[in-house]
Amino acid sequence: MPETEKVIELAKRRGIFWPSYEIYGGVAGLYDIGPVGARIKNKIVQLWRKIFVEENSDFVVEIETPMITPSKVLEASGHVENFTDPIVECQKCHKIYRADHLIEETLRLSVEGLKPSELTNIILQKGLKCPSCGGELGEVRNFNLLFSTTIGPYAGSVGYLRPETAQGMFTAFRRVFESTRERLPLGIAQVGRVGRNEISPRQGLVRMREFTIMEVEFFIDPEDKDVPQLERYWEEGFHVLFKDAKEKGGDPVRVKVKDLVSEKLVVNPWMAFWMATASRFVKSLGISEGSFYFEEKLPHERAHYSSQTFDQIVKVMGEKVEISGHAYRGDYDLSRHSRFSGEDLSVFKKFDKARVIKKRSVILNRDRLRQEDKDFQRELMKLISDKKPEEVEIMIKAGGELMGRKLSDFLSVIEREEKEHGIRFIPHVVEPSFGVERCLYLSVLNAYREKKDRVVLSLPKEIVPYHVAVFPLLEKDELKERSRKIAGELKQKFEVLYDESGSIGKRYARVDEIGVPYAITVDPQTLNDGTVTIRDRDSWEQIRVNEGEVLQVLEKLFSGADFNMILGEAKR
Ligand code: AMP
Repeated sequence: MPETEKVIELAKRRGIFWPSYEIYGGVAGLYDIGPVGARIKNKIVQLWRKIFVEENSDFVVEIETPMITPSKVLEASGHVENFTDPIVECQKCHKIYRADHLIEETLRLSVEGLKPSELTNIILQKGLKCPSCGGELGEVRNFNLLFSTTIGPYAGSVGYLRPETAQGMFTAFRRVFESTRERLPLGIAQVGRVGRNEISPRQGLVRMREFTIMEVEFFIDPEDKDVPQLERYWEEGFHVLFKDAKEKGGDPVRVKVKDLVSEKLVVNPWMAFWMATASRFVKSLGISEGSFYFEEKLPHERAHYSSQTFDQIVKVMGEKVEISGHAYRGDYDLSRHSRFSGEDLSVFKKFDKARVIKKRSVILNRDRLRQEDKDFQRELMKLISDKKPEEVEIMIKAGGELMGRKLSDFLSVIEREEKEHGIRFIPHVVEPSFGVERCLYLSVLNAYREKKDRVVLSLPKEIVPYHVAVFPLLEKDELKERSRKIAGELKQKFEVLYDESGSIGKRYARVDEIGVPYAITVDPQTLNDGTVTIRDRDSWEQIRVNEGEVLQVLEKLFSGADFNMILGEAKR
């Protein structure tokens, strides 16, 4: 059985995830997260919050906005027009395929970002047929991935399930900006469910029709390139496959954050900041630096709003999966929402010192104008109403006339000095975006080990479903009672799984399989001398400690102490 299938089997067996609505045959792309999976998923979200929001709490805030989105918002964002994937239908059996994937899988060609007509041509040229019945394939056309609904009982009031949380942050930008003292940079974070009507999802948690996204829309002043917050990452590095290398079939290279910025390999230093933050986060999921890289997207592969995008790709068990996307969205979103809503979403930047600027203005000789008839007065006003002072000046200098009268008799242009205290501009946006279920899936794949025909899920301690298991060795009341007491005490500080049924071997195997790092066992010796055993998930080694010391030992282990070190101490 391929390793990924073993993991999927484990996930079903141990309550991590499984296809939704299974009793009705399931629906592709919809997954339940089970009791163990929900605990791991919550930990992943908590860890993301810590690294993306809490550690940057002086400039990042979190909000929550609705899943249901009025059509106008997604028209403004461009999703109604552009959020599509190409599909092709078999003319014989009427099966529908995602056209680019079909070509990529059968012909081994990379066709990301090609237009439907270009895909149709490839299908015709290469004589590609329906893989299911061998029938002719039709023309490729775009299919919109938005799930639609109506808002209330009115058929005309179209709404969509959001395909990303981002639009909620853009439409709430002004409120958040005003309530956070009008400062940039400003990060607005959100964790929430999104819906994408994917065409033929077959890859488990990798391609879902409903999933959870964690993203930050990070609003900046594009002129301000000073990012002191980058200092903490300055010397850190990660692998990047740049677009030039990618076009030539090259490999990712390791770059330091300082080089990304000083060599202008990123369009804005904040891109490097969030890529470094994402690296830290992925490493804390247990995925080592050698197992991921950032891939720069080619212009035709990028989303309609982005001028630079890097996908963060994780390589595990022979799979390559995008875990996060990093897009420079420029002022696209706020400008579009300004235009579609009619609201001003620009911000005011006050200069440190007022700037003196020279400004031209048109002066009307009113006394002279009053001597003329009303028709002329009206025509003159019409003439200048939509012209800049510079344009009026050119007309005057060229000896321009209106209705046989010289313009210079009525108009003049003067230059004045004025003080400018600041300017208005539309903030630009940098967006790091993670799918939670992909994080869950990749963390589990990455942690999967087989040891002497048994499975161990070596999850890092930050994302384990429980910190510790407590077992009575035998089904004896005294042992159970003592175990429950210990479990109760540990619950004050730790997340505890208490289990008293079945053989001890099976109970150890179960907690190994769901990744619980330590198991405490109460045995007959406990009743004599008050000691219990602590067993380590990864090495299966055990130490005996006094019952009263368990909490302390666990605290040491969770603050980074190595189990072998504690084992050594216990033996001494
Ligand atoms: P995108 O907005 O397409 O860049 O997606 C942001 C992140 O969401 C990706 O990096 C993935 O981690 C995740 N993601 C995107 N599409 C799906 C999907 N169909 N199923 C599960 N996760 C997804």
